[in-house]
Amino acid sequence: RAAAPQQEVASVCPYCGVGCQVGFRTRDGMIEEVVGRDGPANLGRLCVKGRFGFDYLRHPDRLTRPLIRIAGAAKDPADCLDPKRARQKFRDASWEEALTLAAGGLVRIRDGVGPQALAGFGSAKGSNEEAYLFQKLVRTGFGTNNVDHCTRLCHAASVAALFETVGSGAVTAPFTAAAEADLLLVIGAQPTQNHPVAATFLKDAATRGAKLVVMDPRGTGLDRFATEVVRFRPGQDVALLNAMLHVILAEGLHDADFVASRVDGLEALRAHLAPYAPEAVEARCGVSANQIRRVARLYATARAALTLWGMGVSQSVHGTENARALIALSLLCGHVGRPGTGLHPLRGQNNVQGASDAGLIPMMLPDYHRTGDATYRAFLEELWGTPLDHKPGLTVVEILHAAERGEIRGMYIMGENPAMSDPDLAHARAGLAKLDHLVVQDLFLTETAALADVILPATAWPEKDGTVTNTNRQVQIGRRAVAPPGEVRQDLDIVVAMARGLGLDWRYGHAREVFAEMAQAMPSLANITWDRLEREDSVTYPCPAPDAPGEEIVFHDHFPLPGGRAHLVPAGPGDPGELPDRDFPFVLTTGRELEHWHTGAMTRRARVLDALQPAPTVSLAPTALRRLGVAPGALLRVTTRRGAVDLTAREDPALPDGVAFIPFAYTEAAANLLTRAALDPFGKIPDFKHSAARIEPA
Ligand code: SF4
Repeated sequence: RAAAPQQEVASVCPYCGVGCQVGFRTRDGMIEEVVGRDGPANLGRLCVKGRFGFDYLRHPDRLTRPLIRIAGAAKDPADCLDPKRARQKFRDASWEEALTLAAGGLVRIRDGVGPQALAGFGSAKGSNEEAYLFQKLVRTGFGTNNVDHCTRLCHAASVAALFETVGSGAVTAPFTAAAEADLLLVIGAQPTQNHPVAATFLKDAATRGAKLVVMDPRGTGLDRFATEVVRFRPGQDVALLNAMLHVILAEGLHDADFVASRVDGLEALRAHLAPYAPEAVEARCGVSANQIRRVARLYATARAALTLWGMGVSQSVHGTENARALIALSLLCGHVGRPGTGLHPLRGQNNVQGASDAGLIPMMLPDYHRTGDATYRAFLEELWGTPLDHKPGLTVVEILHAAERGEIRGMYIMGENPAMSDPDLAHARAGLAKLDHLVVQDLFLTETAALADVILPATAWPEKDGTVTNTNRQVQIGRRAVAPPGEVRQDLDIVVAMARGLGLDWRYGHAREVFAEMAQAMPSLANITWDRLEREDSVTYPCPAPDAPGEEIVFHDHFPLPGGRAHLVPAGPGDPGELPDRDFPFVLTTGRELEHWHTGAMTRRARVLDALQPAPTVSLAPTALRRLGVAPGALLRVTTRRGAVDLTAREDPALPDGVAFIPFAYTEAAANLLTRAALDPFGKIPDFKHSAARIEPA
């Protein structure tokens, strides 16, 4: 028989927030290769995950039918480490039996204990339509606002600061604005690892002559393109940024016209900055006063500066303070609202922007209307035909703490893996194990699914139609390229079936119907329709007309705040909560690495990616390894006040002595057994970047 012809289906990469457009080349129902398409965020480029990260679809571990916990099989957090042992505690079930049990358990808790005993985690790996339906299900079917997703572990602090200062949590300009900037400031980010294709645009700009300032405690892949590399002490972002602000104001380098016409709070900020002269903080920051002055002058005197940041800024107990100081720097110098300028928190997951826009957050309804906003709530109650709770719900870490206390009794988790991604995992896993009823919808028997009562097999991204919104506010369409395996159903259909089990009369046939309802609920999607996305693949919001391109750069003449003016918010003091001491002398920082995505469920089952990076490592400076008396490749034990893991030593000259880095993708050495659950008080984001640790040969 002649081989079937290869077909190419246009879609979007489901990994990071860059949102590269891809072509899935398929034959006989399988993806043979993935190519980059000419999307606005990638111009045909892809990184190694987008190129090689899809054969997990047919991995033997893939769930192909629903599973139900066998009666009497105990939930044991140790099962998170042993999928084979976990699997023995489940039996196969029909969809009808699984859905009846899944929804029935949640109904019993809702009606017997109350709606506030329920919670749901949706996913930034799913589509906008799934995120919208999931949060609607929790608010209307459960009757609570206890719904959240991984934005809480990602840029929640940045969003809190952006709302407070400029009135909107999204980026003010795409990263491609780098082409028109004459200075790029990149702080607390490792784009060559975590947003690799975005990094290529930054390198292009630097190569063409834009000045590049890179600020990070660790060295980065951008350093060799940089005009200035500022290696500061971990946790000292606020002191460093305040010192730069101090220099700019003391030397009169700020954009006085911009501030006078568009920004409030100058005098309060000036007073607040008095103790932050560079000489006063240089020892604390580990950066010379000379370099602080030099970098401040570079930034302030640039014609157009684009400011980009990552988790190094946000994942901190003072993440909102960090972001406030950074935003103040940009506002003070008028680097917002013009070509080549802007504020850009690089979004982590491919759809964390869209899932947040769609309302998958506990304190806000779709389009960031607060749950207490009576006018919008009344509009939504009319649209949805159901009364809504006005109280903000609990956030991710708060929900698992409440589960451990026995206050949250039932959960529905779709596409998230908190038994790996939450801080202080011993407690997070204990909270999940204590739930009376846990429904997990996922591709694999993940660490979280190991503690479930019912597991519903989920659809992978190349198996579904849907839209996603990337870090640049580009709404893009993904198309189904292959059929899901076995008895797997579309995620959207599963959420609808769950809603019906909870007593809601939902009838959605396809994602385009959900998108049409979203457009009614979300003015941000004005002039963006499913048909338009089918034709154009990508449209940026806000979009002023059905045939107009979206607005890439916003806030040209006003900010969406009363009076149209932005706010300078003084930041500080910003001290890290857990400092190294004699018993725990290292600072442990955690994050992602190029080859693996978040908790590793997909990429560790992708053959090429697993071959490139097969095992967990702890990276240390050469001097630190010598002090420990070990060579690269030695087995080390890393211990914090929460737990310990054993993993292989890797030498990394980009790390300062005294700082260790562990990626969080590995079950067998889960970095989050070590991290702290302390939260930033505003964004409610935990501190993944600063734990005191002891390191010794294992
Ligand atoms: Fe996918 Fe991000 Fe890589 Fe692009 S840069 S291919 S979106 S992981």
